[in-house]
Amino acid sequence: MDMESSFSERLAAVEEKIAAACVRSGRNRGEVTLVAVTKTHPPETVSEAIREGVRILGENRVQEALAKAPLCPSAEWHLIGPLQRNKVRHALSLFSTLHAIDSADTLEALARVQEETGARPDVLLEVNVAAEPTKHGFTPQSVREALRAALDRGEVRISGLMCIPPWTADPEASRPHFRALRELRDSLEREFSIGLPQLSMGTSGDYPVAIEEGATFVRVGTALFGRRDASAWKPQRSPDSDSYFYQ
Ligand SMILES: *Cc1c(COP(=O)(O)O)cnc(C)c1O
Repeated sequence: MDMESSFSERLAAVEEKIAAACVRSGRNRGEVTLVAVTKTHPPETVSEAIREGVRILGENRVQEALAKAPLCPSAEWHLIGPLQRNKVRHALSLFSTLHAIDSADTLEALARVQEETGARPDVLLEVNVAAEPTKHGFTPQSVREALRAALDRGEVRISGLMCIPPWTADPEASRPHFRALRELRDSLEREFSIGLPQLSMGTSGDYPVAIEEGATFVRVGTALFGRRDASAWKPQRSPDSDSYFYQ
């Protein structure tokens, strides 16, 4: 990616690729939502993206998003990283969609806190599509059990599935994993007679392929904001409270 280019040029390039992938696969552009992944980038960068028309921001850490959110008003925040049970309450105060719920325990914690607070985010279940030992996510079997338990329990609105396939430099290598996630979604819809409209799949390296395979959310960071580095922005923990602030 050419980091000499402006943010608006990079956004236009991503938009163009999204549109082209939609045309190739006979889908409407409106079926695909761009989640701009802002993790590690400072609030100024996030604000510029919002000024340029980005609407939905993806963060993978609850604290980081909570610290940035007041500085970047008018955005919609999605949690794309895993959610720990002790952060459920904080997460429900900000995020409209949780992309990477990966355990039955977290689903149960979500149901409890939702009951209390009335928050109703969309929830996607992360599936470890390539059965990688180092990755989070349900197996195709355990996602069935979790879905059944969540449906019996009620409260949590499960709207789809998410995956992070093994890292590769070849976007075509992701295609079978994206396809497997879509097919798993289709079979869960039939099995449970429910709709699971959302498929969160595809990052900077492979989002056009993900769109061809049915993605409704693509999570794009590097192609929009450049590489994340060690000088990355981090929220400061306020010593005398549980909140985070930006310096
Ligand atoms: C960081 C991250 C992304 C963005 O990846 P890029 O390669 O920078 O586009 C997408 N999804 C998740 C879950 C991430 O943590």
